[in-house]
This record gives sequence, C-alpha cells and structure tokens, in this order.
Amino acid sequence: MSSKPKFDPQAIESARQEAWEKRGDYAAPQPEEGQECVYIKPSSPFTSGNLHMGHVRDYSIGDSYARFRRGRGDAVLFGFGFDAFGLPAELAAIERQVPPADWVAQCGERMLGQMKRLGFSFDYDRAFYSSDENQYRWSQWLFITLLERDLIYRADTTVDWCDTCQTTLASIQVEDGRCWRCHNEVRLIRRPTWFLRITPYLEENDRNIAQLESGGKWDDLSLATQRYILGRADGVELDLEGEGERSLTVFTPHRKFASLASFVLLSPRHPEVDAWATDPAAREELERMRSGGWDRSARDASSVPLVDTGASVAGPDGSQLPVVVSPIVDARFGPTAALGIPAIDEADRGLAERLQRVEVPAQAEGDDEAPPAAPVAGAREATRYRANDFSISRQRSWGCPIPVVLCEECGPVPVPEEDLPVVLPRDIQPTGEGNPLAERPDFVDVECPRCGGGAKRETDTLDCHFDALWLWVPAAVPPADRDEQMFTHPDLEKWLPSERLVAGNDSGSFVFDQRIVTKALRDIGPFAFMEVGEPFAGCLFHEMVIADGRKMSKHLGNVVNPDELVAQHGADTVRLAVLYAAGPAKTLNWSDGAVRFASRFLRGLWNYTHERLEGLEGLTHDPEAAADTEHMRDRLRKWCDNGLERITADTEQLQMHKSIRNITRLFERIQDFEKRVIKRRGQLDRADAEAQIAALVLLARTLLPFAPHVAEELLVAAGERDDGAALLPWPSGAEIPVSDGAKAASS
Ligand SMILES: [Zn+2]
Ligand SMILES: [Zn+2]
Repeated sequence: MSSKPKFDPQAIESARQEAWEKRGDYAAPQPEEGQECVYIKPSSPFTSGNLHMGHVRDYSIGDSYARFRRGRGDAVLFGFGFDAFGLPAELAAIERQVPPADWVAQCGERMLGQMKRLGFSFDYDRAFYSSDENQYRWSQWLFITLLERDLIYRADTTVDWCDTCQTTLASIQVEDGRCWRCHNEVRLIRRPTWFLRITPYLEENDRNIAQLESGGKWDDLSLATQRYILGRADGVELDLEGEGERSLTVFTPHRKFASLASFVLLSPRHPEVDAWATDPAAREELERMRSGGWDRSARDASSVPLVDTGASVAGPDGSQLPVVVSPIVDARFGPTAALGIPAIDEADRGLAERLQRVEVPAQAEGDDEAPPAAPVAGAREATRYRANDFSISRQRSWGCPIPVVLCEECGPVPVPEEDLPVVLPRDIQPTGEGNPLAERPDFVDVECPRCGGGAKRETDTLDCHFDALWLWVPAAVPPADRDEQMFTHPDLEKWLPSERLVAGNDSGSFVFDQRIVTKALRDIGPFAFMEVGEPFAGCLFHEMVIADGRKMSKHLGNVVNPDELVAQHGADTVRLAVLYAAGPAKTLNWSDGAVRFASRFLRGLWNYTHERLEGLEGLTHDPEAAADTEHMRDRLRKWCDNGLERITADTEQLQMHKSIRNITRLFERIQDFEKRVIKRRGQLDRADAEAQIAALVLLARTLLPFAPHVAEELLVAAGERDDGAALLPWPSGAEIPVSDGAKAASS
C-alpha cells in the first residue's frame, strides 16, 4: 500500500472532472417511467467575460441541489444559456473596438471554462446564447405571435430616456429616477415605442401568488418581489360627473375617506387624458411635460410635474374637484385616475399646497384626530396594480432586430414567419453614438411584405428583457431540434414547469414578466399543457455577495476574483465557503474566514478518512471487546441517522448553509465516537473501525452535492466503484454495522 494520498485539491479536482467528462452523468437524461423530472434553472448570465462571486453563489446553490436530486433518483435537467444581447456587451465592445458578436463569443467561452473548473454539473451541450441567429429567430417569432394577439403594440408615448446611454428604458430599469446602467438621471420623452401588454394578466399573476406560496417551493424573498412588482392597491372606485355629461372613474385606497377628496389626479398615460385637458393652455403644458421630459427624480409631491386641466368633476360630497394631470399617479396606482385627499394623505397634502384651485384643509394631528369617515354612496370595491405595460424596444444595435417593416403606405408590417430570422449584421461595429443599424442601407432598405413598395426596416432592436421572457425554455429542448420545435417539442411537457429557479434577488421583474408570457403562450396554444400558467413551480432568490460590508467594485478595489480563490484553495473549498457563509436570504459578506473554515474542514476530513482506511488493515476482531462497545456503535448509528435526516431536509429546502453545518457536526461526532471507544478500551476493535468507516462513507455521500470532487475521491478510496451509479446515490438511511462481527466476518 502506498502511503496516505496528499490533500491536493488541484489534482483531485482535475481527476474528478476528467471522470465526469467520461461518464457523461450530467447530460439531460431520457426520464424513465415513474421518474420525477426536475428542471433546475440557474440565472442566465450576461456575457460580461468573468464570473463574479454572485454567479458562484448562484451556481453553487443550484449545482448542489441538482446533484442532490440526481442522488435521489430523479431525472435532472440542469441547463442554462447566456443573456448575450444588450447594453453591457455593446458598451464593452465599444470600449474594446471589436464587434459585439466577437466579444460575446470570447466572453462566453471564458465563462464556460470557469464554470467547468468550478465543477458545476450543467448539461454544457445545451448551453446557448440569446444572440445566436437560431435562438433570436424565436425571439422574433414570439414578437410576431404576441403582436398578432395584440399583446404587443406600438404607441407614440412618453418613455423614460437616458441621455447618456441614448436609449429608452423600461420603468423597471429606472431606479429612483436614475438609469439602472449608468445611474444618471432619467427624463421622459415622447417617441414611437413598442410595448408588451401585461395588464391582461396582472390579476392572474396576483391570484397565483397564493398558490405558489402554498406549494411551499417559493421562498419568502421571491414571493415578496412578485408582490412588490405587482404593486397591488385595494380600495374603492366611483364614477364622478363632469361638465357635458362626461364621467370619470376614480380610484382611492382610502375607502372611508373618499368624501374628503379635494381634487382628482389623472395619469398622463390615462386613456382619456386628452379629453380632459381641452383648455389650450393646459394642453400646451401637458404637451411640454410629455415631450420636453421632466426630471424623474422629482418623485416627491413638492416637485413632481402638475398640470391643472381647468376641468372639474363633482366630488362625492357635491363640491367641484379640479382635475389635475401628474405622473405621480403612475408611481402609486398605475395609469389611472385617483382621488386627492389632502386631509388624510401626506403626499396629496404636498400636491394640494401647489394647486391654486385647491384649498388645503387644516392639518390633522395624528390618526386619532383624523376627520370623521363617511362611506360614499355608489363606491365599488376596486383594485389597482402599479405594474404596467413596458417598452421593449431600444435604440441600440446589439439586440434582436424587431421583425417589422415600416411602410409609408401600410404602416408597420410584420415580417412573414417564413422570412425569419431578420438577421442582425454580424460585423456591426457600434461607436456609442446613435444607432449604427439605421446607417446600414443593406439592413434598412427593403420591400414592404404587404404592398411590395419600398420600405424601411424598424431599426430599434428588442431590449434583452424581451429575450429573457423565454430564456428558461431552450434548455428543455435538445439542441438539434431547436430550429424546428423550440416551442412545440414533446420534451417541453416533461421538463416544464421548471422545478426550481435559482437566481439573484434582482431577478424579480424578469420572473414577473416570464410568468406573464407563460400565460399568454398557454392561451395562444404552445404552452396549453401548463394550465396554471406558471413557468416555475419553485423559486429561490438569494441575496448578493459583498466584501468589507460594501458592494464589490473595481473602484473600491474589493472585488473577490473566483479564479484566484480556486487556484489557491480548489473549487470544493470555494463552493463550500460560499454555501456555508450565509443562508440564501442573507447578504453574503465575503471574508477569508469562510474559505479557511472550508479548507480546514475538507483537509481534515480527507486526512482523517485516509488514516482510518489505512488503519483498518492492522486491526483484529475480539468478540468480547466488540460486545463491550456495541452500545457505542449503536449511538454512532443514531447520530448518523439523525444527521442524515436533518441534512436531507435542509437540502430539500435549498438551505445549504444548514446542511453543511450538520455535515461538520456529524464529522465531529464520528471523531468523538473514536475518542470514547479508546477511552473505554484503549483501542478500537475491528468492529468499531468498520462502523466508523461506514459512518465516514455516509458522511462523504452527504457531502457530495456540495464538495463533489473531494467526496467522490473519498468514496472511491473507501472502495466504491468509480462510476455514477455507485457514487451518486443519496443515502436513504444510515447503514452502520452495530451488532458484533456481522461485517467483520464477511470481509
Ligand atoms: Zn444610462
Ligand atoms: Zn406597404
């Protein structure tokens, strides 16, 4: 026998990764009869060129869950694709003066290499890029399909505009009045824009939240994001009469105080806003507000734009209520009309102070002295949602071309399905100014598909948020069949809905819109088999990884580089550290302590197990001695049973930090068992040593999802066959030989 193998993570990991490559255990399996199909969807990374610690956290959680489910005998699909279109890649390409297509390919290759080095068990053959022609032709198909159902529309309307990025933004890309990307202030401008209509499905998204919650597979964080984005407000609505028999339906969440209203607020996006702003001066002001834009950071009542239309409606108490247009309504209740009740609402009070036609009521001191409430006749129960249709087109060149031709005779005409894809020129070289697509006659000038006359292609491209609407679909379809059957392949029914999405907690809006589009595709037909209309049966959102209590950034010089960590400590240590350091719902404040802990544990377990395996040879069996320690082996068995039960339950819930804590505790107990036996008898009987080795094997099996390289090597060292069928199974119980000699005799 050679001496104890050294703990060398780099050698262990390359040996294991080679074995995995040969075994092919991670390819999406053909599920057998009765096998549960589990599709685990990790987040789709931007092709930024480098995995960051947030990715490592995401994929470490997803990968350990995937390995756990495989070990339990389920058919597991663990696959992903790159979110490769969009501004980040375009800006990086501008900086480096290379075509974005080249940059994306380079980055993707590099990131795939990093993922493999970390030992993530994806089906890499199913990886894809949203910017590949055979992929985005389906984004175009989806666009046309939704357009035909009126779920996409083009409207000349106010949109958020970033001067720096020279692009429109979806409202969810505006954070506190600032651009999500460059953090500069955003303003509203008016321009023709394509919108995704989500309002028809808001109520169903709302209703389903309770169902998702009761399913027990959506964590609190992810449910909270869905509720927040929906922005549900409950209250009452009533019809108020204006001059000339016009009526306006207004909403208020203050159902008891409707009679105290002093004015009515109308969203600039309200469908009837033009009919109410008839006064020429008001119209001009409204137009200026829309086209000149306004400062989005002026969200508060003291500076938000207000346009008094001059019109009034009769309030619930008979008094005349001025009708005022302000985008503050959108931020609170969506594109609706709402009562302004300064007597009880702080924001409304701020607005009232700026309105000449409104008398500000006396300040109410505290809730107790609020004015008496009176129910209003004719008020109906009502709900409003803040979530609203969002723009999906961008004036950028690194995006999926919108399959539409703009014809002066016919208007916007969809490109016929058989002519898809509309190909984005691969050699396009953006400079950061304007839209390079618009300057390419070979792209722009076309025949109108309807009248045959000369026409122009739409040069706006789709926002990558649109690509993301269905980024969870392709992994479920074998790559060879994607050209023909992306949305109709029979395998979709096996894998969808995804058993679990694992993503960062900033993915809430993506998930919200993916839930919308699933319902649309269910109603249109392809996804009819998903009756509930939910793409994810389960969802785990994790918080971010920071360092020194602050967000990692080059500027702060606190970026933790996964490559360096892996080179220094090995992938298992990094994975274990990331999983152990914090539960998914907590921000992970990175410290070397977690790495040291993980490294010490793995090294300790490695050395200890090898020493015990070697020591076994020299041990003899004495029935009398064995009988004397039988109760101790029984206790060891109980510890193992208990530990296994807990680790299993925590891993089922993706609470990997708890699983790992219980694994380390069980290791302590296995060591404790030996100490106690030695204290009692001076040394271990062979029966004791065999029981202990059985416990160490059990421990390695439970460790396998989290630190797969070390765990598999230990199992092989303990005599397990080196193949997936022998190594992967998750233990169903602790098989620790307790009664004397049972195993000693047979070995
Ligand atoms: Zn910007
Ligand atoms: Zn035409």
